[in-house]
Amino acid sequence: MKGLVYRGPGLKALEDVPNPRIEAPTDAIVRITSTTICGSDLHILKGDVPTVQPGTVLGHEGVGIIEEVGDAVQSFKKGDHVLISCISACGKCDFCRRGMYSHCVNAGWVLGHTLHGTQAEFVRIPFAETSLHRIPEGMDEEALVMLSDILPTGFECGVLNGKVSPGCTVAIVGAGPVGLAALLTAQFYSPAEIIMIDLDDNRLEVARTFGATKTVNSGDGRAADVVKALTGGAGVDVAIEAVGIPTTFVLCQDIVAAGGTIANVGVHGAKADLHLEKLWAHNITITTRLVDTVTTPMLLKTVQSRKLDPKKLITHRFKMKDMLEAYDTFQRAAATNALKVIIQP
Ligand code: NAD
Ligand code: ZN
Repeated sequence: MKGLVYRGPGLKALEDVPNPRIEAPTDAIVRITSTTICGSDLHILKGDVPTVQPGTVLGHEGVGIIEEVGDAVQSFKKGDHVLISCISACGKCDFCRRGMYSHCVNAGWVLGHTLHGTQAEFVRIPFAETSLHRIPEGMDEEALVMLSDILPTGFECGVLNGKVSPGCTVAIVGAGPVGLAALLTAQFYSPAEIIMIDLDDNRLEVARTFGATKTVNSGDGRAADVVKALTGGAGVDVAIEAVGIPTTFVLCQDIVAAGGTIANVGVHGAKADLHLEKLWAHNITITTRLVDTVTTPMLLKTVQSRKLDPKKLITHRFKMKDMLEAYDTFQRAAATNALKVIIQP
């Protein structure tokens, strides 16, 4: 079969790779019908994630049809339509029993990381019973690809950890797919204001159509003053960091109101400052989280009932044979206006 293979920093190829086979009785093999590319895949390609071995098929998002199941898999059978979670979970270890699937001692983020991923014709899913979700009849498959990673990430790490509540003010720093996912799911709770901050005017424009009440281009370095002015000097109750660089974490510290919460979502590769000399008396909370995908079944219901429309995040579509072109388009998002690209056989 064909798969998108990581060949070391800066190198990737669409290659013939062996078809995956059942290795443990808890495995399932899924035939991919839709997958996508994530910012994390670009991090891997830059060489930022050394735990990914050259030769690994990338991808941790997708939807497909079950091709085969191991002997211990009872809830799924050949032919079932399933959503693949970016986090695989054994369901039995201490962390899984606490709902912290991201820290599962037997799996976690393994797809397209330490195991072959979803950017291929087939993928082996470990612990299939607790890592796949059945797709109800008649649901739009493309929309559901957004539920493998970005929607639960924006919701769990940003909205839930940030404690977004009715009438509160929220700022989201970073209007990429994850920040926009936080924007969409924050609206479950009817906050009074959602201020979106980014450097890219196109993404800010998209954010307005997705429900942002105000947008701020932080390119001039004055975003903190603007947010203060927009909030009567108080700052925001919830500051969601969805970029992953030191300056945006500091911006969140500059705009959080007394008693507020900074919910970090971004993956940070460099040391970032924490200004306790300013914040020690500010009664704030700072949270961090790796997405657990524990809210995926709930999010699935909101898509089914049309309370949430994640399909809005899809800007481009490609065939699997054109995967390199899909990467190129996604990589040059500022020029192509790409948010999420859908890749299908
Ligand atoms: P992305 O790169 O597509 O989006 C980041 C956005 O930040 C872009 O729109 C960019 O224009 C903007 N930006 C860059 N520098 C900025 C600055 N100085 N000020 C304001 N905006 C700036 O990334 P994404 O896919 O949306 O992911 C966002 C972050 O979430 C990444 O760090 C990603 O690795 C992380 N992430 C975390 C988890 C988790 O479990 N915690 C899961 C998935 C992704
Ligand atoms: Zn991801």
